[in-house]
Amino acid sequence: MASDVVIVGGGIVGMTTAYYLARAGVPSVVIERDAIGSHASGFAYGGLSPLSGFGIPGPLAEIAQEGMRLHRELAGSVGEETGIDIDFRVRSSLALAFTDSDARRLQGALSWQQRQPGYTARWVDASEARRIESRISDEALGAVSIEGTADVEPYRLVLALTRASERLGVTVRHGRVTGLRRDGRRVTGVLLERGSLDCSSVVLGLGPWSGEASAWLGVPIEVRPLKGQILRLRAPDPPVACSVGWGHNYATTKPDGLLWAGTTEEEAGFDEETTPAARDEIGAALVRMMPAMADAQLVHQTACLRPLASDGLLLLGRVPGIDGVYMATGGGRKGILFGPAMGRVIADLILSDTTKVALDAFAPGRFAR
Ligand SMILES: Cc1cc2nc3c(=O)[nH]c(=O)nc-3n(C[C@H](O)[C@H](O)[C@H](O)COP(=O)(O)OP(=O)(O)OC[C@H]3O[C@@H](n4cnc5c(N)ncnc54)[C@H](O)[C@@H]3O)c2cc1C
Repeated sequence: MASDVVIVGGGIVGMTTAYYLARAGVPSVVIERDAIGSHASGFAYGGLSPLSGFGIPGPLAEIAQEGMRLHRELAGSVGEETGIDIDFRVRSSLALAFTDSDARRLQGALSWQQRQPGYTARWVDASEARRIESRISDEALGAVSIEGTADVEPYRLVLALTRASERLGVTVRHGRVTGLRRDGRRVTGVLLERGSLDCSSVVLGLGPWSGEASAWLGVPIEVRPLKGQILRLRAPDPPVACSVGWGHNYATTKPDGLLWAGTTEEEAGFDEETTPAARDEIGAALVRMMPAMADAQLVHQTACLRPLASDGLLLLGRVPGIDGVYMATGGGRKGILFGPAMGRVIADLILSDTTKVALDAFAPGRFAR
């Protein structure tokens, strides 16, 4: 069996790439070794916050805004095409400060945030923060409030992208890719645990496992897994109406009615098991942000792995030295937000050899010494 484009990995990056290619009339084959959305793309919190985080403002700001623009579009298009409600909600966020240093860090980005069209960002004092969410701790000094942020249910989004793509001719195939076949400089197929598949272009959307491709490409790919865990809790009413955050912690009531609270940043290799230590760490941060949540009951705990490059930036674009191979990974803590923009960039490169997003900082070959 031959295909023009093979996409390795059925996370948000692989499935958005498949979707945008298929909409342009290029149906690909997606190869996934587990199940679609069965890793971070199916278990993430789904916060879409393009105005904050590592590299924002900075090299990740443009792709963050592009990701948000495409999420808004997808909320209409894939929902209509598939009948799957992806639970996209515009939802404001409060980033809390408990110390002067928290406040200085948050206020440092504020004037840039206030210049971004489509959002309202402002510093609110503690009493105003409690008018927005009455259970915010008395110990909070204040917060940055941003209106215009959003969230989405990542697993439903990946499922909807898959269904929409399949309707446009995409094939999802179960299998594990173990290498590439090439003829001189040109890729001619992928090697699977059982057999191979001919193609003229390959997209590597392997998420935290992207480092495995170093051996296939002869180029170092410095991407590692950064484990994160989330608690889903039955919490006292009323629902938390915005996303409340503090450092790398956050909490909000999701459309399933549960309070989702996260998260950890753990260097634990490829281990995807939940742990009591993470439960306690997340629970303590939740209670620091909103003490009334001490009464919340744990319903479910999840763990998954973020793909994180050694410099924190994306790997996005053509792989050097081998024609027809593209890489899209490194979304880190914001891979759901970046995902549609990453998929769109790769689809544009395959279809027209150009893209409107600046990719200089994201060159997949940059770790070669
Ligand atoms: C706790 C937690 C909370 C998060 N919250 C948010 C959030 O609020 N907002 C946000 O924007 N982001 C969030 N993220 C980050 C986001 O989930 C990830 O960055 C994103 O899902 C990565 O998507 P991906 O497609 O690159 O990788 P993945 O989802 O890991 O998909 C990669 C796929 O490739 C497959 N694969 C790998 N190797 C092979 C192979 N050799 N052959 C075939 N298949 C292969 C894997 O099985 C996997 O399904 C969170 C992450 C965590 C862990």
